[in-house]
Amino acid sequence: MIPVTAEDLVRFKRAGRSDLAARIVPGHFGDEAMETRSDGACVHLGRPGLPHHCSIYDVRPAICGDFERGSWQCLEARRSVIGK
Ligand code: SF4
Repeated sequence: MIPVTAEDLVRFKRAGRSDLAARIVPGHFGDEAMETRSDGACVHLGRPGLPHHCSIYDVRPAICGDFERGSWQCLEARRSVIGK
């Protein structure tokens, strides 16, 4: 579950990506979150030919930028969602 904050929503709008708000779903504890695919991955994961890239990288939620690339949590998430 990838939380989306009010600040993220403002950033989407300022970047001309108000469409992203349509892909928000209820998250934990009354928060909002990114919609997920049937395999549990974020709907914005993957670009043509680049399955591990974020398709909204420039405006991704702040928590995504805070997530340490290559950390054990990152590797565990990749294993559990995409098997790599
Ligand atoms: S970095 Fe991009 S693909 Fe990954 S969870 Fe965040 S928005 Fe989704």
